[in-house]
Amino acid sequence: MFYEKIKVPPPTFCPECRMVRRMNFRNERTLYKSKCIMCGKNIFSAYPEKSPLLVYCHDCWWSDKWSPLNYGTDYDFSKSFFQQFKNLMARVPRPGLSYTNTVGSEYLNYAVNVKSSYLVFGSHDLENVSYAKTAAHSKDSIDITTTLWSESCYETVDCAKCFAVLFSRYAENSQDDYFLFDCRNCSNCFSCTNLRNKNYHIFNQPYTKEEYQLAPDWIQNCFTKKLAR
Ligand SMILES: [Zn+2]
Ligand SMILES: [Zn+2]
Repeated sequence: MFYEKIKVPPPTFCPECRMVRRMNFRNERTLYKSKCIMCGKNIFSAYPEKSPLLVYCHDCWWSDKWSPLNYGTDYDFSKSFFQQFKNLMARVPRPGLSYTNTVGSEYLNYAVNVKSSYLVFGSHDLENVSYAKTAAHSKDSIDITTTLWSESCYETVDCAKCFAVLFSRYAENSQDDYFLFDCRNCSNCFSCTNLRNKNYHIFNQPYTKEEYQLAPDWIQNCFTKKLAR
């Protein structure tokens, strides 16, 4: 129906195969050891060295040693778009990785304004962050995905404005918490869901500050008992 409406032929591949082909188009997180074909420098690249694509290092690609305008070509209406697009892609040099303004962070791709970080992808404005994907404006964190304006976090997904939040998803404006799911403005909460403006809660139940501070022992005992069983 939809395809009839927009007057294009129905697809010949199933939806999943089409998704695989779309995702193949952008390799975001696999890094290969390769060489710049202009200066010969060893580089990390999104393309394996044996790839027929023409890959320059970051410095060569951004330099005036070549001009992308030399690769311009007229469009031929008698040939298919995709064939011409493929030919163009094969002829024009590309950067091995895509990044801007990074310091002390070699293992990355699609990254901007990144300092002293390791294995960060599709991210920007990070400092001292390792293993990040779509993270931004964050620092001193490890294993974060789609985490913004956060600090000292570990294993957070879809979190924002968090400080020292661990193993959490959909947490916002929160600090010193473990295992949150969809919580806002919470602090010192452990394993809580859907809480707003709360502190010292364990499994969504309120505790005094003193009780809460004993919780690590209580949790430790649970784990030890389990292991001993
Ligand atoms: Zn298929
Ligand atoms: Zn080079």
